[in-house]
Amino acid sequence: MSAFEVVELTFHTTHDASEILAFWLHESGALGVTIVDPEEIRADLARPDSLDYAGKDFLDSLPETVVLTAWFYKDGEDMLIREEAGSGMVYAEKAPVRMNALAFIASIGDRLQMLHEESGEKDVNLGFQSVLVVKPEDWEDNWKKYQKPLRIGERFVVVPTWHEGEVEEKKDDDLEILLDAGMAFGSGSHETTRLCLELMEKTLKPGDEVLDLGTGSGILAIGAKKLGAARVLAVDIDPQAVKTAKENAKTNRVEISFHTGTLDDVDDTFDLVVANIVFDVLSKLRSDFLTKVKPGGKLICSGILSDDVEQFASLMAESGFHCVKETSDNDWHALLFQREDLSS
Ligand code: SAH
Repeated sequence: MSAFEVVELTFHTTHDASEILAFWLHESGALGVTIVDPEEIRADLARPDSLDYAGKDFLDSLPETVVLTAWFYKDGEDMLIREEAGSGMVYAEKAPVRMNALAFIASIGDRLQMLHEESGEKDVNLGFQSVLVVKPEDWEDNWKKYQKPLRIGERFVVVPTWHEGEVEEKKDDDLEILLDAGMAFGSGSHETTRLCLELMEKTLKPGDEVLDLGTGSGILAIGAKKLGAARVLAVDIDPQAVKTAKENAKTNRVEISFHTGTLDDVDDTFDLVVANIVFDVLSKLRSDFLTKVKPGGKLICSGILSDDVEQFASLMAESGFHCVKETSDNDWHALLFQREDLSS
């Protein structure tokens, strides 16, 4: 990918709109999205246990609005984007495609309008003010400095490959996941991924057979192996994601089976299925899950927004999955289901 340039898009937005905008930009194929939210930074600094590193100059330098920056690959006149994005809150169902960079930027207003209409009360379009910067540059310094090793749950540490060996306060029972998510979703920084890893840590038993549906960067599949899963199958409809996930599995020296496709292509049954996709996709798959989870087995679904949790849980109950645990972070929810064991 070294021949590619990078386009940096900057948005001024509101706290409420920033999350939905960041989600859409990720879906549109952004390499990375960072959010600088002055209110959150001020609130963090105001906490009694916060380190007092911020002088007045720093506080004065904070932007007035939330500033969101997104990076996209650019090759010649084209940007690499995901076409399906913008049409709804569904993860991209297609590999990256090329789109003339100027045409993409010109279409942002319309895409935001669509997002605004679809997201209801969250006023994404009003939150958007302008594309401030559009410059091709080496994104690595800018973006990678935001990607620090992340501790997740009790034992996971997600380490960007360029920070290998730099984990501070390492513990003996740490489970390191070395990762370069590239264009795939799943760097560990998103709530939906973190919630899955946390639930997996509490649920997965050594020796389990695990299916990771919508593997993205492979983060959950690798996490499952590190927790002692005997066999892991990782599936994604996006061939690019499968390629990235394979590379990440190799970096982590774990053996995972990969498949490009959907749940339909999976024949086996599993002790645990994890699927971090979104409400629309997951609810459509609910009866298919039944044929993939062993009786008494578990299913973790993540990527469910607060507004949809109740409906999702009741749809799943109709299909024979009892919700045994629900966790959340910001607006995102993850649910742990158990499949009824009718034989006992
Ligand atoms: N598991 C990773 C990535 C989640 S992003 C994590 O938790 O961070 C969701 C992934 O699901 C994307 O890579 C997308 O390509 C894939 N996906 C979307 N719909 C799918 C479907 N119907 N079947 C399989 N994969 C799907």
